[in-house]
Amino acid sequence: MIKTYKFRAYPNKATEAQTNVVLELCRQMYNLALEQRIMVYKQSKKSLTCYDQINQLPELKKEFTQFNKIPAQSLQDVVKRLDKAYQSFFRRIKTCETPGFPRFKSFNRYDSFTLMQNNGYKLEKSNLILSKIGIFKLKLHRQIPLEAKIKTVTIIRKNNKWFVCFCCGNIISKVLPKVNRSIGIDVGCESFLTDSNGLKVENPRFLNKSTERITKLSQKLEKQVKGSNRRKKTKLLLGKAHEKVSNQRLDFQHKVAKHYVKHYDTICHEKMNCFKSFKGLNRSMRDVAWFQFFDILSYKAEEAGRKIVKVPAKNTSQQCSKCGKIVKKDLSVRIHSCPHCELILDRDHNAALNILRLGTSLQDPTSILDSSSLVKFNDLFVE
Ligand SMILES: [Zn+2]
Repeated sequence: MIKTYKFRAYPNKATEAQTNVVLELCRQMYNLALEQRIMVYKQSKKSLTCYDQINQLPELKKEFTQFNKIPAQSLQDVVKRLDKAYQSFFRRIKTCETPGFPRFKSFNRYDSFTLMQNNGYKLEKSNLILSKIGIFKLKLHRQIPLEAKIKTVTIIRKNNKWFVCFCCGNIISKVLPKVNRSIGIDVGCESFLTDSNGLKVENPRFLNKSTERITKLSQKLEKQVKGSNRRKKTKLLLGKAHEKVSNQRLDFQHKVAKHYVKHYDTICHEKMNCFKSFKGLNRSMRDVAWFQFFDILSYKAEEAGRKIVKVPAKNTSQQCSKCGKIVKKDLSVRIHSCPHCELILDRDHNAALNILRLGTSLQDPTSILDSSSLVKFNDLFVE
C-alpha cells in the first residue's frame, strides 16, 4: 500500500532562500501555463491538454532559461497541478456546485513543489539533500520503513515553517487479529459521531476555542489597511491559528479512527455524497472534517486489514431500526420514537443501527429483513 510520511524540516538561510526561488519559478510556470490555456481557448475554442503542455516544456525552457534551474519532472508536476485544477473545475460544473475557475497564483498561494523518484534529491539519515538547492534537516519523529519505495518528495512552506512529505509505495500492512465485531457509524450535526452501540463522540471543545480566536483575528484583519505591516502580522497569526485547529482536528480524528479500527473488523458508514442534505451550522467546516475523517479511517483500516462498508444514506435516519417502518422527522427532532413498535431511541443511535444492519446485510445477503421498505441489496455498494 501507499503511505505518506510528513516531517518538519529545517533549512539554513541559504537553502531557504534557494527554495523560495524554486517556489517562485514554479508559481510563474503555473501562471504561464494557465495564461496559455486561456489564450488558446479564446483564439481557437480548443482546450490544451496536460500532455500538450508538457510536450511544449522543452521549447518553453529555451525561451525562458530561468526554468532550467528546476528538474524537468518538477516542472511537469506544475502543469499536472494546473490540469487537476481544471478537472475539479469541470467536475464542479457537472455537479452544479459553485464552479470557481482556476486562479492565477499570487506569492502566498503557491507554497509547495514536488520532486519525482530519485531525481534531484538524496536522503541521508536525517538530511534531505536537494541538488542545486541545499540541505533540509528533518525531524524524523518516526522512521520510514526499510522496504518503502519513495515515489515523490514534496517540499511545503506553511506559515514560515517548512515540511517535507515522502509519498512511499510498497508499504507492508500490519494486519490486526480478528475480533469478530462490526459497528455502524453515523455522523451528525450535534455530535461528531454516534455508533451503533450508542456511544457518542462529541466535537472536542478545544476546537470551539480555536474557532473563536480565528473569528476574532479575521474580524481584526478586515479592519486593517491592506499592505500594512500590522495586517501582515495578523495574517500570519491567523494562518497559525488555522494550522493549530487543523492539527488538533487531525489528532482527534486519528484517535477516533484508531479506536474503531482496533476494536472492530467491519466498520459501516454512510456514502459521502449524502452530506449535501445537511443545512446550516458551519457546514463547510464539518463537511471537510468528515471527508478527512473517513479518509483517515479508510487508510487505517486498509493498513490493519479491516473492512469499510459504505451504505447509501437514504432513509438511515428516518427508518426504524427495530421494525423497519419509515418514521418521518426533520433535523430538529433528536429522538426517534416509533409509533409502530414503540421503540424510543436517540435519533443518531437509531441511524447508526440502520447503517450497521445495511452494512452487515451486504456482507451476508441472507440476513436482509424481508420488508419492502428496506433498501434493496442492489442499491448497496462496497468499497
Ligand atoms: Zn419501529
